[in-house]
Amino acid sequence: MNAILKRFLRFQMPFSNNFGQKRFKKTAIGDPVDIATGLEKRYLLAQLAGNLNPFCLLMLERGPATKCQPHEIPSAYDRRIIGCVCECESCSITYMWLHKDAPKRCECGYWFKLVQVPPV
Ligand SMILES: [Zn+2]
Repeated sequence: MNAILKRFLRFQMPFSNNFGQKRFKKTAIGDPVDIATGLEKRYLLAQLAGNLNPFCLLMLERGPATKCQPHEIPSAYDRRIIGCVCECESCSITYMWLHKDAPKRCECGYWFKLVQVPPV
């Protein structure tokens, strides 16, 4: 009777018996930090160190952004392309190049300045 029942269960549930467990071997995916390479690995390591925005890609809150107090844009290079949402309800972004030691004024009147930061 047991043999008939086992044969019936094997036919009804092919993946719930031992045959299915042997067929689909359990494998584990390693830690993403160990697998990642290049920029992705540097990004993950910076996040583990506590820097949640290592490449400074998140939108920044704009301060007064006047000529005397320009908005400081971090960069590890001598120039960087930035985007300015000139008005709160604007649907477009004004892009411009910002160079080291050359503060620049957007067409909306806000000033930006490049600030050197160490590379990630
Ligand atoms: Zn603007």
